[in-house]
Amino acid sequence: MFKNSTPREIALRAALTIGGASLGVMLLLKIIVPDSISWPALLLLTLAAVGFSYVVVLTYLDRYIYRKIKLIYKTIHHQKVNAEMKREGVDLDQPIIDDVGQEVEEWAEKQQRQMEQYERFADYRRRYVGDISHELKTPIFNIQGYLHTLLEGGYHDEKISMSFLKKAAKNVDRLQTIVEDLGAISRLESGELILDTDVFDIKELANEVIDELDLKSREVGIELGFKPGADTGFMVEADRESIRQVLVNLVTNSIKYGNPGGATKLGFYDMDAYILCEIADNGIGIPEKHLPHVFDRFYRVDKSRSRKKGGSGLGLSIVKHIMEAHQQTINVRSSPGLGSTFGITLAKA
Ligand code: ADP
Repeated sequence: MFKNSTPREIALRAALTIGGASLGVMLLLKIIVPDSISWPALLLLTLAAVGFSYVVVLTYLDRYIYRKIKLIYKTIHHQKVNAEMKREGVDLDQPIIDDVGQEVEEWAEKQQRQMEQYERFADYRRRYVGDISHELKTPIFNIQGYLHTLLEGGYHDEKISMSFLKKAAKNVDRLQTIVEDLGAISRLESGELILDTDVFDIKELANEVIDELDLKSREVGIELGFKPGADTGFMVEADRESIRQVLVNLVTNSIKYGNPGGATKLGFYDMDAYILCEIADNGIGIPEKHLPHVFDRFYRVDKSRSRKKGGSGLGLSIVKHIMEAHQQTINVRSSPGLGSTFGITLAKA
């Protein structure tokens, strides 16, 4: 009945109703006792009834609505009504009840969304902490084992002590890789990575990465180079250091999961709107059912091979985060025994 009505309109309607009723009563009185009231007095009294009830109803509404609204605002905004609002009171020319109704609805929706988000965060945190403790457990357990064996007399044997110390050191290196990669992931996830965008030649950067990883690849007999026909460089716009990290992770994986005597080729393709950069190897490949998960943190296709190679299981997850921060994509094609090709897109300069 009062939908979309302002307090002033409600007061006016109430006053007119009261005025109409008193006019009716006075007219009845005049009909029954014609001399009881004069026409000017009847008119004056009706006007007075309208005016008086308008002021009374409006004042009441003002106080009543203000008190109710104060309560609602205190609840939904967790705030005290400030002095300015107290002074202002209620805007009597606004459909205040509808406005507050809408605000309460929005508040309820927001609360619901927040609850769902908290639940997602809590679930994510639980899994994250679980994953990390699981990952750290193995190297810590190994180091513990080697050190205790040495302390319990193993150090008397030079061969055993050297071998165990080397193994313990390797596990410490793995711990360090995990901790560093976790740091990188948390920086990326907290949005701390502020892209320092620059224009650069992607082939030039790829060359630097190949030089950096040359020794590592030679050690396992894998040749690093460019794909014939797709070896022309392109100018791209991105955060050079982050893209270096992406290329280092992808090329390192192609070495870790490559076959001795194999090769990793980098190629660049002009895709009109963007540049596609592919890193292709002829290594062990990834079975199809694992492909959708390889970018998940701590996901490994072959756990023992990854651990043996010192992998943290976070390399591809870091790559994905960096590409998402650039609003670009990463994809993978792979067949077991034939090899894998990882492709990233980059904005054309
Ligand atoms: P990791 O530290 O284990 O290498 P990544 O996140 O870099 O972690 O990779 C996740 C998993 O994806 C690896 O454990 C491996 O099983 C698989 N993978 C990644 N790159 C390749 C590749 N080029 N060839 C075959 N498997 C790969």
